[in-house]
Amino acid sequence: MPKIGTVGYVEHSVKQNHFQIKKRFGQNFLTDSHILEKIVEASEVTKKDAVIEIGPGLGALTEVLCEQAGFVLAYEIDKDLLPILEQNLKAFSNYKILNQDILKANILSDISLYLEKYNTIYLVANLPYYITTPILTGLLSQKLPISRYVMMMQLEVADRICGKPSTKDYNALSLWIEYRALAKKIMKVPRTVFIPSPNVDSAVVRLDVYKDPPMYCENERALFFVIQGAFAQRRKTLENNLSLKYDKKFVQNMLLSLGLSLKCRAEELTLSDFIKITDYITHNMDK
Ligand code: SAM
Repeated sequence: MPKIGTVGYVEHSVKQNHFQIKKRFGQNFLTDSHILEKIVEASEVTKKDAVIEIGPGLGALTEVLCEQAGFVLAYEIDKDLLPILEQNLKAFSNYKILNQDILKANILSDISLYLEKYNTIYLVANLPYYITTPILTGLLSQKLPISRYVMMMQLEVADRICGKPSTKDYNALSLWIEYRALAKKIMKVPRTVFIPSPNVDSAVVRLDVYKDPPMYCENERALFFVIQGAFAQRRKTLENNLSLKYDKKFVQNMLLSLGLSLKCRAEELTLSDFIKITDYITHNMDK
């Protein structure tokens, strides 16, 4: 068997098992063992910890995780990969593959079933790119007991996640993540290290989920409603975007009393500004 995380490993696994790579499942297999190791290194996982992996594929990342972690719980949607995973991971017993769609899985109940004895749980994955955003928002809003996420994703989404105010990448997703976690781009990854090669470059992002968030909003649902509304049309002012959801006069009074310019745009505001706006709306709406 060729060394894991190499072109030979992918070609051998695919050929030997007559496996058809499925574009519809976002199957782009990593062929660089150095990058695999960097991903696992960034997670700082130890034998005392458990890891959840999304989309183990042919098992290259899973193998490194099995070596470094106490236990690996992996969700793979493609049942054709199960026999290949069993074969490629035969040297290990500290893993469980669930043939499930991650977006439909009951992760909390799986954690209590398989990972009960682990205090620290990380999520490490080379994500299927067609569902990067639903995976991120779905998992983070469930408030699962996962303390760190290390994920390979398309570069464009990585840049948005790590976007700072007044840059082109800053948007609702940047703020959504910033509220919950400290985000850091670990490295850029060229499209050439995957089989098949995707149409875009990638990046590895690490999210350290806040135990005690540095900023708190009493009405989180309203906060994200306001943020979505504020970024609805990027070129419009905040006043115009928010006036689609709230009374125009109310919006003008609010911006003035919060010391914000009527000409400002959503991309110039920080998370703290959005929390102030939401608090104002919550306390002054039907007065
Ligand atoms: N981990 C492997 C690697 O790094 O080479 C494969 C990564 S590949 C980008 C994404 C994997 O996610 C594929 O194995 C694909 O079948 C799986 N996948 C796609 N959609 C999924 C879903 N909804 N739930 C679970 N796994 C999924």
